[in-house]
Amino acid sequence: MAERRPYIPVNPLFARPGERTHAPRFQLADDGMMPETAYQVAHDETMLDGNARRNLATFVTTWMDDHARRLYAETVDKNMIDKDEYPQTAAIEESCWRILADLWHAPDPHDTIGTSTLGSSEACMLGGLALKRRWQQARRAAGRSTERPNLVMSSAVQVCWEKFCNYFEVEPRLVPITEEHKTLDGHYLDQHVDENTIGVVAIMGVTYTGMYEPVAEICAALDALQARTGLDVPVHVDGASGAMIAPFLQPELVWDFRLERVHSINTSGHKYGLVYPGLGWVVWRSTDKLPEDLVFRVSYLGGQMPTFALNFSRPGAQVVLQLYNFLRLGRSGYTQVQQASQDVARHLADGVGRLDAFELWNDGSDIPVFAWRLRSGHTDKWNLYHLADRLRTRGWLVPAYPMPDDLTDLTVERIVVRNGLSMDVADLLLEDIERETRYLDRLTAPMPSAAQHPGFHH
Ligand SMILES: *Cc1c(COP(=O)(O)O)cnc(C)c1O
Repeated sequence: MAERRPYIPVNPLFARPGERTHAPRFQLADDGMMPETAYQVAHDETMLDGNARRNLATFVTTWMDDHARRLYAETVDKNMIDKDEYPQTAAIEESCWRILADLWHAPDPHDTIGTSTLGSSEACMLGGLALKRRWQQARRAAGRSTERPNLVMSSAVQVCWEKFCNYFEVEPRLVPITEEHKTLDGHYLDQHVDENTIGVVAIMGVTYTGMYEPVAEICAALDALQARTGLDVPVHVDGASGAMIAPFLQPELVWDFRLERVHSINTSGHKYGLVYPGLGWVVWRSTDKLPEDLVFRVSYLGGQMPTFALNFSRPGAQVVLQLYNFLRLGRSGYTQVQQASQDVARHLADGVGRLDAFELWNDGSDIPVFAWRLRSGHTDKWNLYHLADRLRTRGWLVPAYPMPDDLTDLTVERIVVRNGLSMDVADLLLEDIERETRYLDRLTAPMPSAAQHPGFHH
């Protein structure tokens, strides 16, 4: 007689309902599933995303150490707006922006104001709003019209500035970049600035190429303009990437609050601040640069705390991670990390620049980012979009895209080096770039036009 075996819930993986069957995607299912199954389904779906460490398109942190990951897991439940409930997280936020104010040479560290944000986009909106409100107040006080504010910046600004102008009804005045003037450098400023200009944006680390705009020259051009016309136009520095590079790698470069015209600076904590997304910062050189009527109060330890933000609820864990990095690395640690990234970037730029097919646009000596173009006359059989596609087959995300006005006929390809890309892995990438370039150069017929990936480089 056969022995009766007890029922054993084997429940093998990938043979369970939800894994063996389709889970509905555009409707909430009537019933749920085991947590293990739901985890597996969501986990497996994200496998199809690009590999974050081989993503050389993004500026945003893709690697933090194990202590940071532990701290993240411990603090994911914190809401930044609950200052009264999480007073210490609020205190950590303040200490972080004060550290940044000091790093950026605020003239009086006791008289600065700043905040964390979701990223540089929100930080830029706040910087722009402060410029607009100050301009409105000055115009009203002088009995002048506030109908037509404009903001002057390079055509190579990040899309957040176009959003700011669109959402908050400010006319964007884009100064075109050219082969002679690769960045906004003070040239042509007086053709764009007038009495309705709320400010000028200077970018430390242009997204397209990684180049610094010469903030001091922009300020000098505005000084000359003021001497001629009396217009006193402030500058906001968009230091999304460079404001966390320049203090460590180019400490002698004067771009920050050492320039009196610089009213506010933003950076992305989640770029070279080395924190996971999303975290940004904005700091004003002195409290009077942030109009009081933009500030709201939330309760805090029986009193009130000023806040200036677009969001209400927002994660607090990233702010704690920023403090972790500040404590863990200090000045020398940040310098080592950023220098290592720059060494890798310059090594890669060197390797790419040595190939016949290419010509460097810049070499990674500002922020650890560089771009290159196809040498003119090299080939009519392929372009940089094809190279980007070929590199994707090895999992490398290295975007190609057109430059902004007036250089839209020019296509470049860009590499962003971040902490986590070692010299060894960079050499593997270089080998792949060389091999794929040889492959494309051996083609006897032109490649069909390659897919462009819009937005891939933002
Ligand atoms: C990335 C970037 C932004 C937007 O920053 P997020 O943190 O992604 O919102 C703005 N300006 C510049 C120059 C950037 O590089």
